[in-house]
Amino acid sequence: MNPEISQKELFVFDLDGTLARSKTPMDAEMVELFSSLLQKRNVAVIGGGWLPVFEMQLLVSLKSHESLFGSLLLFPTSGATFLRYEKGEWKTMYAHQLSLDERDKIKAAFVKAFQDIDYHHPEKTYGEVIEDRGTQITFSALGQQAPIELKDAYKGSPQDRRWEIVSRLKEYLPEFEIKVPGKSSIDVTMKGIDKGYGIGEMEKHLGIDVGKMIFVGDALYEGGNDEPVKRTGIDTIAVEGPEDTKRLIAEWLPQL
Ligand SMILES: [Mg+2]
Repeated sequence: MNPEISQKELFVFDLDGTLARSKTPMDAEMVELFSSLLQKRNVAVIGGGWLPVFEMQLLVSLKSHESLFGSLLLFPTSGATFLRYEKGEWKTMYAHQLSLDERDKIKAAFVKAFQDIDYHHPEKTYGEVIEDRGTQITFSALGQQAPIELKDAYKGSPQDRRWEIVSRLKEYLPEFEIKVPGKSSIDVTMKGIDKGYGIGEMEKHLGIDVGKMIFVGDALYEGGNDEPVKRTGIDTIAVEGPEDTKRLIAEWLPQL
C-alpha cells in the first residue's frame, strides 16, 4: 500500500508489456480497471510505438468508454507526440517531427549503411522495410507486418545484422538517436527523445508537478526503455506484466 497514492494527480503507464501483453490489445479485465481509474484521475499512456500501435493496443479495447477519453492523454513515440481528446476527436497538441531534410538524410544513411556491409533484404518481407513515421524513421528487417514468430526467430540469428548497420549509421548520423528497440527493428529519432523527455513534456503541457505523478512500467531496469523516467524524479513502480498492473490498479481504486 502506498499512502501517498491518493495525492497523485496523474497516473502514467507504459503501454506494451504494462497495460497489454506484447503487440496485443488490452484485455477485458484491464479495460474495466483502466476505465475505473479514468473516472477518478487523469491517466497518461506513454509508449515507444507510434499512434497506430496505441490504436491497436489501447483505443480499440476502450472504444465503449469514449465518454472517459477526456481524462486520457496519449504520448506515442516516447512523448515526441502528445494527443488529447477534444470535441469527439483526438487532437495533436504537439508533434516534434523530423524535418523533410532530416528524414531524407536518415533514409539515405540506411542505404549507405546497407551498401557498406553488403546487406541485402530478405527475399520475402512483410510490408515496408523502411518506414517514415514523421517523428522517427524505423527499419524493420522483415517488414512492418512480419509475424511475431519470425521476428522472434530473427533476433540474434546470423541474419540479424542490426548492430553492424547501427555502427555504420552512427557515423553518418551522429546528430540523431539510434536505437534497437524490438526484435527486428532499428529506430532513428531526434536526440534526447526518451520517456524521461516525455515526462518533462507532461509536466510542461499539463502543469502537473512531477511529484504528483506516478509511473508504472515493465522496463524500468537498467537499459530498459522506461528507465529514463527515473532521472525526472517521478515515483516509479516496476511491474512484470499486465497482471501485476491489474493488481496495482485494483489496490489503488478504493483509495482514490
Ligand atoms: Mg514496456
